[in-house]
Amino acid sequence: MSVTDTLKIIASPDWMADGLCGNGDYDPDDWYPEPGDDYGTKVERAQRVCRICPVIAKCLRWAYEEDDTWAVLGGMTAKQRSRVKNRITRKRNEWKAQRNRSVCV
Ligand code: SF4
Repeated sequence: MSVTDTLKIIASPDWMADGLCGNGDYDPDDWYPEPGDDYGTKVERAQRVCRICPVIAKCLRWAYEEDDTWAVLGGMTAKQRSRVKNRITRKRNEWKAQRNRSVCV
């Protein structure tokens, strides 16, 4: 664990205390699955809990702000978040290009 990771843990936002993944009822490892380590089953279990978590929106926003590349956060894996982010970036670039074309005409 890096110093940055440690600081993130120390400086955890208040809403994290309401996250279901930290209430002791679930295996925290499910949120940090390693490839090949029963990955799909762990992700599915984590996402099932995230879906009923009262802070899912804040958690997902935080995951994007922190650019987390590992954990299941806000109900999404890092790969799923990355795909959505890339899709939004692509769309934004298309809109910008479209706008620039219409301004230049
Ligand atoms: S949304 Fe999922 S990862 Fe985030 S706090 Fe809730 S249970 Fe934990």
